[in-house]
Amino acid sequence: MAVPKKRPSHARTFRRKRANEKRELVTVGVCPTCESPVLPHHACPSCGHYKGKEVKPVLEKEKKAKKEKK
Ligand SMILES: [Zn+2]
Repeated sequence: MAVPKKRPSHARTFRRKRANEKRELVTVGVCPTCESPVLPHHACPSCGHYKGKEVKPVLEKEKKAKKEKK
């Protein structure tokens, strides 16, 4: 049986592994209410709105914290 003379380097091994990994593009929308990035078919994480209606209550502290970051 053929035996490899040397073991492949760390770089070579990881280059091969990374080459077969999928890199997915994530589509990101913009919330019409607060204009923050939102995932499609998800309620907005910062204001809790989905399709113009508030569907998820967001704590006042979280709202303030996210606005201050901008
Ligand atoms: Zn929003």
